[in-house]
Amino acid sequence: MAKDYYKILGVDKSASEDEIKSAYRKLAKKYHPDLNKDNPQAAEKFKEINEAYEVLSDSQKRKNYDQFGSADGAQFSGFGSNGGGGFSGFDFSGGFDDIFGDIFSAFGGTRARSQRAYRGEDINLSLNITLKEACLGTTKTISLTRIETCPKCSGTGAKDGNKFSTCPDCKGAGRVRYQQSTIFGTTIREGECQTCGGSGKIIKEKCSYCMGKGVVKVQKNIDIKIPAGIDDDQVLKMSGQGNAPSRPGTNGDLNIKMNLVPDKLLTRKGNDLYIDVYVPFTTLILGGKIDIPTLEGEFSLDIKELTQSGTVMRIKGKGSKILHRESRGDLLVTLKAESPKSLDKKTKEALKTIEDSISISCYPKYKKYMDTPKEVK
Ligand SMILES: [Zn+2]
Ligand SMILES: [Zn+2]
Repeated sequence: MAKDYYKILGVDKSASEDEIKSAYRKLAKKYHPDLNKDNPQAAEKFKEINEAYEVLSDSQKRKNYDQFGSADGAQFSGFGSNGGGGFSGFDFSGGFDDIFGDIFSAFGGTRARSQRAYRGEDINLSLNITLKEACLGTTKTISLTRIETCPKCSGTGAKDGNKFSTCPDCKGAGRVRYQQSTIFGTTIREGECQTCGGSGKIIKEKCSYCMGKGVVKVQKNIDIKIPAGIDDDQVLKMSGQGNAPSRPGTNGDLNIKMNLVPDKLLTRKGNDLYIDVYVPFTTLILGGKIDIPTLEGEFSLDIKELTQSGTVMRIKGKGSKILHRESRGDLLVTLKAESPKSLDKKTKEALKTIEDSISISCYPKYKKYMDTPKEVK
């Protein structure tokens, strides 16, 4: 059940952190249970507001929520109802007066109760992605084994899904009373029926597919949509894609941690990419065009005449895409002079003849350091 956290807080999808905080404060004040003792709905509303704020105030959770939309809504509300608030709204329809029961044995009484209590385990994986995949986004298919609700018996564990008989121990109530001797004498307590686990029913004939367990292990291929701009160590949370619980309830989540494989040429800092490009020293002097590698193939870069080695050129919009935005980072190219690896006699002569006319002197720049007395060995 998707909850629109933006709607709950009455803010726009593009709301800033401050706007969300201020909307939350206003609503939290209005619905705070201490100020609404006569209004039971206020507590529910207060819980909802907190739940929404918990997600939208955390940039990572908000990103996940924005990306997976309703799925995450269901997941986070699932967390919420595992909390203390989940005790409200119990109907003691088991036919017993619950006055002797304690709050923990109340779990698992009726089916509705057990749905609140059971949640499957999360599956945590890490996934290798290339720099290009991280910067531009992609879809990857991963293969995993997970526990799913048995499709043959819909998780009931019973053959044909309906072959149950009433539990002989609790007569279908799911709860039993028993006597307990304490120093104050004998008291009557009430708790979950051990025979049927609180369901009030026992399986007549077990489902042959899951051997009565209600769950089965399944090898699964899952498509993972990797959003453009994701970075190393970030976790994609796919709510409800984890393991199914052994009794009716909600599935765990599938958490996928990104492991960014270092690129041979490009390095990433935030949304910008960096590359060192070696250029013939003649191109730096005379100017010209060079092709440089980018995420999306070659890019022709103009080099101006008399460019110094070490010059950094910024190519706008050739960096990583920015997570959940339209804009992109830049590519910063450091130009480095490349000298020839070999020289024939004729070229060497030619260079010598022009050497003096290209007056390059490094001396003034380093004068201060070079004027100190030479180290004598
Ligand atoms: Zn029973
Ligand atoms: Zn089954």
